[in-house]
Amino acid sequence: MQNYAIENRFQYRTVRSNAISVFTKHATSKLIGGIVKPKFVDHKRKYTPSDIRSDVKIYLGVDVNYSLAWRAKEKALISLRGTTATSYSKLPAYLSFVVCLKNKTCSCGRFQYEEIPCEHAWAVLKRKSLVADGYCSDLYKPKTVLKIYEIPIYPLPDVAEWVIPEYIMYDEVRPPKFKRPPGEGQK
Ligand SMILES: [Zn+2]
Repeated sequence: MQNYAIENRFQYRTVRSNAISVFTKHATSKLIGGIVKPKFVDHKRKYTPSDIRSDVKIYLGVDVNYSLAWRAKEKALISLRGTTATSYSKLPAYLSFVVCLKNKTCSCGRFQYEEIPCEHAWAVLKRKSLVADGYCSDLYKPKTVLKIYEIPIYPLPDVAEWVIPEYIMYDEVRPPKFKRPPGEGQK
């Protein structure tokens, strides 16, 4: 407790004997958040409010309830990564994509996959005052869509009127012949 107070310049104005009770009274989520913050630096690691509760118990010897631990976690994460709004405002600075109009590709992968300009390609087209027509697959164009309906589509007649060839009619469908892969247990 005293070490923590010194390390974190936490105002510690109490006599040893009632240190814990004073701490409990002032154990705010912000304070605990500050203590557990280093645990969230490695964001691959899962650190739950229950973990916070047991760590606070181990390190500080006090019991905190789940909702306080949860709020402490939120405060620690916000202080580390900023609020969601601030994080989003920083996004454009971190994200950049490479668009190649000639090959109709973007490093986000969607331009070449969907064959229609992604938002990054659109940004480039807009900046260069280019028409998007040449950068979309013909599949998206009204001419192609209309062509689909050129061929007449006939509704299926009643089942009784179906003409099924004999080799299909009497073909017995069996499960595929395969061996059970090694290591797979019997059911
Ligand atoms: Zn893109």
